[in-house]
Amino acid sequence: ATPTAIMVGTGRAAHLGILVKGAQVLEGSKKITTVVFDKTGTLTRGQMRLAEVATSDSADVEVLRRAAAAESGSEHPVAAAITTAARERGLVLPEVAEFSSVAGHGVRAEVDGTTVHVGRRELLDQQQLHLPEQLAARAADMEAQGHTAVYVGWDGHVHGVVGVADTLKDEAADVVRHLHDMGLQVGMITGDNQQTAEAIAAQAGIDRVLAEVLPADKVTEVRRLQDEGHTVAMVGDGVNDAPALVQANFGIAIGTGTDVAIESSDITLMSGQLDGVTHAIQLSRTTLRTIY
Ligand code: ADP
Ligand code: MG
Repeated sequence: ATPTAIMVGTGRAAHLGILVKGAQVLEGSKKITTVVFDKTGTLTRGQMRLAEVATSDSADVEVLRRAAAAESGSEHPVAAAITTAARERGLVLPEVAEFSSVAGHGVRAEVDGTTVHVGRRELLDQQQLHLPEQLAARAADMEAQGHTAVYVGWDGHVHGVVGVADTLKDEAADVVRHLHDMGLQVGMITGDNQQTAEAIAAQAGIDRVLAEVLPADKVTEVRRLQDEGHTVAMVGDGVNDAPALVQANFGIAIGTGTDVAIESSDITLMSGQLDGVTHAIQLSRTTLRTIY
């Protein structure tokens, strides 16, 4: 492409709140066949809040108190939802010891002299914490609604399941429809469980769901799509999206996301509004059409 035409393209991009890294970048997006969105913080607002607490033999506040104490050392959006809810209810959180976290799974800490585990079902299964059937059923209901079920266990049992909810960004479904209209395939990738992921994807009109992907494996999934012949635009906001943004043919960072994601991307959507994804791809198409 000629330098002038590219400058026109990047100038218009800037006007649309799209920060383009280098003049050649828009060219990279012309052959995209597939757009993959990260879920949390990209398709959704990423501000999780507590929706419900289900318990078996303990009081709701006891489950919430222990979960929040264990989560107080974590910066994950799930942890923020749980600690905020505990604070709002005026719960006093005990000091914890021996906090540790497993990326993409959850946390554990010693609370009141007992080890409390909080996280995905698999994490608690591994610790051989028994899950009562009635709680498993409540968790399934939460996931069918698109909520993330967070399991809370200690002393050999899961004592509660906390439902944490995030909401789609207002424009998400429109942007997905627009991308489909442009002839592109659209997918979603997340560390969240399959049922929750499918419920959220359905709300956004996305039919290709890659769920339960560990943070380090997002890049592998992008590479797999490329091996299958897709030219991939990846849209993400998190530290764990950074390698996938680099691997993708076109990396799109959300401006409200982490610095690492922004540094790893080709373009950044300054406002965090997803419309920028369609604008950027359209812009590359029109810019190139003008030139050749
Ligand atoms: P995402 O791709 O949605 O950002 P992550 O890979 O960070 O998800 O986490 C995947 C899943 O692991 C979450 O949906 C949650 O169920 C669980 N998880 C991760 N961190 C925590 C935590 N601090 N507390 C409880 N659960 C967690
Ligand atoms: Mg994210």
